[in-house]
Amino acid sequence: MTQSRPDFSDNMKQPNDKESRYCTRCARALKACLCEYIQHVPHLAPLHILQHPNEVAHPKGTAALLAASLSHARIHVGEHFADADWLNALLADPKVQCYLLWPDDEALTLAQVREGRGQAREVHFILLDGTWRKAYRMLHSNPALLGLPRITLGAMAGQYSIRKKPFPEALSTLEAGYHLLSQWEGEPERFAPLMNLFTELNRQWHDFAQGRRA
Ligand SMILES: [Zn+2]
Repeated sequence: MTQSRPDFSDNMKQPNDKESRYCTRCARALKACLCEYIQHVPHLAPLHILQHPNEVAHPKGTAALLAASLSHARIHVGEHFADADWLNALLADPKVQCYLLWPDDEALTLAQVREGRGQAREVHFILLDGTWRKAYRMLHSNPALLGLPRITLGAMAGQYSIRKKPFPEALSTLEAGYHLLSQWEGEPERFAPLMNLFTELNRQWHDFAQGRRA
């Protein structure tokens, strides 16, 4: 599993205007770069984040912060993944069991996943990063994803106070990654740097909003 860190050789080329205003690691505007708060978090279960193209440059997106923190997380940008060789190979791998984070009525809790595991297959998690509507469309235009077992993180209130949420328990991708890995792998304190980063992000946005009102 390769890491989602950017190829720093990119820094060698002459940046164009847009590139030069964004941090290549946390994908945020340079003036809002949060890299100093990103801590490397080792973990076991790989995370595959399927990111809707509209989220890539979204100033309030959190997937890049999650991927930059984790040792085994990768962002794949797109809407249609039927031809994605990496995904097809992963789903066909008999040694791997993928679960899709999609908290509907059929979704299993992680405790249920743990109980129901027969063969010790390697567990991978797939997350959709987009607005609820976009994520729904991504799911339904990718039959392979529709066929995956779904998981839920249980009822918990997201603390994401800076972005419109379709329902109160909606979590940002960064929070979802935190809850998912700490529930699955235990030792929530190991994943605390993710929530610290999230707190920092919220603080930054509230400061910014305050500044705008002043
Ligand atoms: Zn940065």
